[in-house]
Amino acid sequence: MAILRASSKTGIGMTSTRTRDRMLSRLREQGITDELVLAAMAEIPRHIFVDEALSIRAYEDVSLPIGYGQTISQPYIVAKMTQILRDGATPNKVLEIGTGCGYQTAVLSRVCQEVYSLERIRPLVMKARSHLRSLKCTNVKLDHADGSLGLKAYGPFDAIMVTAAASHVPSELIEQLAVGGRMVIPVGANEQVLHLIKRTAKGVQQIALEPVKFVPLLGGTALS
Ligand code: SAH
Repeated sequence: MAILRASSKTGIGMTSTRTRDRMLSRLREQGITDELVLAAMAEIPRHIFVDEALSIRAYEDVSLPIGYGQTISQPYIVAKMTQILRDGATPNKVLEIGTGCGYQTAVLSRVCQEVYSLERIRPLVMKARSHLRSLKCTNVKLDHADGSLGLKAYGPFDAIMVTAAASHVPSELIEQLAVGGRMVIPVGANEQVLHLIKRTAKGVQQIALEPVKFVPLLGGTALS
């Protein structure tokens, strides 16, 4: 039973290199130019992050359910947010809010030095931990916590990525952004827009980028 499951997850067919290559070509057409991001997404098997019944759709440009009412973001948005955050350089210390199944975390782990990621739903933390362990993402630390408060003890961060939509940018996150640092965060309720926040010695600059669709950033933590 276990053997069958393992072989179908890694086998040929819908999760083959060819299917992954098609995702890469599409990302290039959609304006993704950061070669490190593209290489990370070519290497990381997205299908292991979704339920087996959905693995056939893992390389399509769609978000998919991961349980607990949450979703794995579509490949384009993962690539775009990572590209914006990097801006052609490799951030040292990155904070991600909203680990989910850990796919975005795995991409960050390949293009940043050190990744801290917070998730408010405990079983998702467990799921992500097992995925990231199997991919040997050893530069990642996961925690079960309300990410809207950030992770002060480990800050400041060179980059912060929020993968759930906030009604406003939490002040704690801006405070934990290093001078010269960048944050990407979806803001809004029904109409959400991806924002880039840059912290400079002179202050904080906020730039609206493009419409997006994320699950909401919620307060507190959940055990199930
Ligand atoms: N990064 C994921 C996207 C997961 S969806 C990916 O790779 O696809 C967004 C996640 O944010 C959900 O798992 C949700 O539980 C989590 N989330 C929402 N509010 C949060 C908060 N305040 N702190 C931490 N995680 C939060």
